[in-house]
Amino acid sequence: MDMSSVASSPYVLDGIVIASQIKLELAAEIAAARDHGYTPGLAVILVGEVPASQIYVRSKVKTCAELGIYSEMHTPDASATTEELLALVASLNAREEIDGILIQLPLPAHVDTARLLEAVDPAKDVDGFHPINAGRLLSGFPAEQVLAPCTPAGIMEVLQRSNIPIAGQRAVVLGRSNIVGKPIAAMLLNASATVTICHSRTRNLAEITREADILVAAIGRPGFVTRDMVRPGATIIDVGINRLTSEADLERFFPGNEARRAGFAKRGSTIVGDVDPAAFEVSSAYTPVPGGVGALTIAMLMVSTVKAARLRRG
Ligand code: NDP
Repeated sequence: MDMSSVASSPYVLDGIVIASQIKLELAAEIAAARDHGYTPGLAVILVGEVPASQIYVRSKVKTCAELGIYSEMHTPDASATTEELLALVASLNAREEIDGILIQLPLPAHVDTARLLEAVDPAKDVDGFHPINAGRLLSGFPAEQVLAPCTPAGIMEVLQRSNIPIAGQRAVVLGRSNIVGKPIAAMLLNASATVTICHSRTRNLAEITREADILVAAIGRPGFVTRDMVRPGATIIDVGINRLTSEADLERFFPGNEARRAGFAKRGSTIVGDVDPAAFEVSSAYTPVPGGVGALTIAMLMVSTVKAARLRRG
């Protein structure tokens, strides 16, 4: 047999398994905090009734309960003004037992999101969106001292726990949002990767992505990264969560995949990342969608809450 034609299967970076490991470790840390006389506490603010946000918030609160983190929900009406929300944030900033404040985004259009995020006490900013925390991340503060955005923090856990080399590697990040692209680029740089950030104005994108040892796709475009854009043997981190509702898309991305077809028949949709699943085949390791990066985000919020409690309470 011509062995050159036999590629070894890429390794699946299983976000569900890594999230369980993280939660197990966290449960021990929370028990230790209790022994020191405190329970980490998270306050979640959900403005209005956005169904997707309601689902996210419910699972965040549920995970708090599972791990023994105190949590409370605040659900102001969609008509709440920026001033009213600022007052709520101020009251949570002032409460000793609240270590983390999470404002579920997106907020209604009339609310000044930037002003609200900046009003959160940086020591309680478990999402890491406050300019002080973003600045600390960029300044290269040690990771254990910075409250950083949860999705990129989860990506770093995946890479580090899977022993994927970062220092000296060429990392390419697709997307420059404040939530994913910019912070993951900063984290990879802090870990001594050589980082390139691409966005919608980048020229010759495929040439750049083909140089990546680590390729992070966070653009929100279904299956955008195709096989020819990936260097054989690269590690692919697919952050995208894109819902497909047409049979044509189902067949395009998951040809002959009976499990996907059955799920689609039941729910009327399926999820694909920003990477065409066919591109995973040339990688050495990749995060699947679903079950990859997305599975870690809530666990990392819990990590951030416990970290905020530890840093605030010494
Ligand atoms: P944003 O929409 O905020 O940012 C998208 C970025 O992608 C922008 O920088 C944009 O460039 C760039 N982009 C868009 N189209 C192209 C293109 N054709 N070529 C190159 N770059 C492009 O998205 P987010 O960062 O918030 O999210 C990205 C994806 O990750 C989404 O699918 C989202 O659902 C998912 N996500 C998943 C999470 C998880 O837990 N797994 C958490 C957060 C997000 P420009 O700046 O030039 O406009």
